Amino acid sequence: MSSISMDAPIVKINSFGLQNIISFIYTHEGILKEFGAIKIQLSSDCTLALKKRKISPTCTTTQKITKLNDDESIYSVDKVEAQNLCNEQRSPITDEKTFWSSLSNSDHIFYLSNVSILPNQTLFYKKQHRKYFAIHSIPRQSLLKLAGSKIVNQFVPCLTRTHGPGAVFPLSSAQQHLSLLVYHHQGSPRHWYIIPAYERDALTKILQRENSSICFEHQKLLINPLLFDNYHIRYHRLVQCQNEFVVLSAGALTQSFTEDASWNESIPFALPSWIEDGHAYYSDSTCQCCINNFYEPITIDITLFTHELIQKYIDKYLNIDNDGNTSINKG
Ligand SMILES: [Zn+2]
Repeated sequence: MSSISMDAPIVKINSFGLQNIISFIYTHEGILKEFGAIKIQLSSDCTLALKKRKISPTCTTTQKITKLNDDESIYSVDKVEAQNLCNEQRSPITDEKTFWSSLSNSDHIFYLSNVSILPNQTLFYKKQHRKYFAIHSIPRQSLLKLAGSKIVNQFVPCLTRTHGPGAVFPLSSAQQHLSLLVYHHQGSPRHWYIIPAYERDALTKILQRENSSICFEHQKLLINPLLFDNYHIRYHRLVQCQNEFVVLSAGALTQSFTEDASWNESIPFALPSWIEDGHAYYSDSTCQCCINNFYEPITIDITLFTHELIQKYIDKYLNIDNDGNTSINKG
C-alpha cells in the first residue's frame, strides 16, 4: 500500500447537528474510521455555553524529548519535575516544518515541552438549555450509556493547557480505545498526525524493526512523519484552530503539537463500533508503562453491551431524521 498523508476530512455542523452530535458523528463514521479522525467546524447558528474566566493551571507537566536514533525519526518523551527546569528560548513555531527542525536542531540533548493536564476541569457550563452544547453529557449520549450511569459519570472532561511554542502531545490513543471529542477553546493552532486503528499492526512491526520497545499507546513516543512516509504507514494531518472540534476514531493513534500557548478540552465517548470492531476488548496488560491514576482504566462490564441493546440504542438515539423527531433527550 502506498503512503497516504493527505489531510483528514472537515465537516460542517449546524445547531441541530450540534444538539445531536453523537448521531451526527455516527452518520460520518465511514470517513471517521478510514481517516482515524475528522474535524468539525461550527456554523454561525451554533451556541456554546462557555465560562468567561479561565482556570489557572496548577499542575504543569514538563516533558523531556530525547532523540532515540541517529536519523532523528523517533523521540522518547519523559515527564520530568517541572519546577527545576526553565524552558529554553526557542524560535517561533509557525508550521510543522519549523517544529520538526526545531526538534532536530536543538543544541541540547533534549527538548522541553510544557503542558498542563487538568482532569475533571472544564470551560463549558453544564447544560442549561437544550440548545446549548454541553460537553458533560457526551458520554451518556453515547453508547457508554449502556454501562449504566454510575460508570458513565466517571467519564469527565479534561482540560489541557499548552504553555509555549512547540508544546507536544506524544503518541497515544484515547483511554480504553474509546473515541475522543476534542474542542479547541483558545490560542494557537494544534497540528495533529493521525494513524487510523487499522495501521496499528504495521506500526508495531516498524517500531520493532527500529529497535524501539517503547509503548506507543501512552504518551511515550513522538515520531517524525518521515518515518511513516518511509514505511508507507497511512497517516493524516489536521490543523485544529480555535472553536473547532476534532473527533478521534476508536483505537486511532495520534500525536500533536501546538504552535504556542493554547487551551483544549476533551471528552471520551463510544460509538457502536467500539464493541462491534473489537476496540473494547483490547487489553494493555502487556504494557509496562507506569500509568498515572488519571489514566487508570474505568472498569466497564462489556457483557452489558449485547447486540440487541446496541441495536436498540442505534434505533432510538442515533437514527435521527432531519426533523429531529427522535429526540436524544427522551427516555
Ligand atoms: Zn503503555
